[in-house]
Amino acid sequence: MRILVSGGAGFVPSHLCDQLLGQGHEVVAVDNFITGHRRNLATLSPQPGFQLVEANVSLPLDLPGRFDRVYHMASPASPIDYVELPFDTLYAGSDGTRNLLERARNDGARFLLASTSEVYGDPAVHPQTEDYWGNVNPVGVRSVYDEAKRYAEALTMAYRRYHGVQTRIVRIFNTFGPRMRPNDGRVMPAFCSQALRGEALTVFGDGQQTRSLCYVTDLVAGIVGLMESDLGEPCNVGNPHEMTMLQLAQHINRFTGNTAGIVFRPLPQDDPTRRRPDISRARAAFGWEPKVGFEEGVAATVAHFRTLMERGEL
Ligand code: UDP
Repeated sequence: MRILVSGGAGFVPSHLCDQLLGQGHEVVAVDNFITGHRRNLATLSPQPGFQLVEANVSLPLDLPGRFDRVYHMASPASPIDYVELPFDTLYAGSDGTRNLLERARNDGARFLLASTSEVYGDPAVHPQTEDYWGNVNPVGVRSVYDEAKRYAEALTMAYRRYHGVQTRIVRIFNTFGPRMRPNDGRVMPAFCSQALRGEALTVFGDGQQTRSLCYVTDLVAGIVGLMESDLGEPCNVGNPHEMTMLQLAQHINRFTGNTAGIVFRPLPQDDPTRRRPDISRARAAFGWEPKVGFEEGVAATVAHFRTLMERGEL
């Protein structure tokens, strides 16, 4: 198949490009490099069947040829990005989704929206099932991401119902692995970078808030599985292995041998208190399960940050 991946130079989408090319497909990655990095695609760029186009998917796109699949993965995706890039975040979810849905409609392609567990906000239901409607602050600092993704889901369902486009919606939970940006503000890059530099890890609030972290290759297998299934409803993909941020900090310090300990910092606004995906739908619809254990994932992720440190980039 010929496949378009928006945001292809980002952390998760670059792993998606790897997996799709490995399956023998032709891949066109589009990125404007505001948060993505060419280096993430360095091993792919020389391969036949792979093409990287510099463009902003929120603006009209001029991409020749016809696509069989469109993965809309482009968006700033960490809490500090939303603060620094509020309009890019809003437009990637709104205009970007519209452009790529139109493209899928015109090409007769199947379309997948990368949505997020953030549509559940600070969830009152735990673990989160797809039929929970969420608890989102519509005007808080995170709203540019949360509401853009909620709008993107509504737009995707409208194209499905009114234009008959074959659509999929994946709600991605916290993900980690190689190629995360050291300074993107997310918990795993922050903790790994601090630990390798021998600094105290910055735990926000009292550290009792929970997240459930999925290793990136598992996540990508779930995304491709969903695209190739016949599930039109939104679908959670994430690892239900839940822990507090304090436990995560202690684990990273132990794993790296960092003796600098932990410091507590103020909790950011609207930081969800707990998050864990119910993955029954993904299991039933396309037999997906995460396979990579947490410790194995941490080892690969720390190795990535160690490489960055050896290159003087940490
Ligand atoms: N966090 C932390 N220290 C950091 C960065 C993040 O304690 O240096 C916490 C943050 O408050 C949140 C969790 O880790 O509760 C996950 O944050 P992240 O930004 O990775 O993703 P989120 O799930 O909030 O979008």
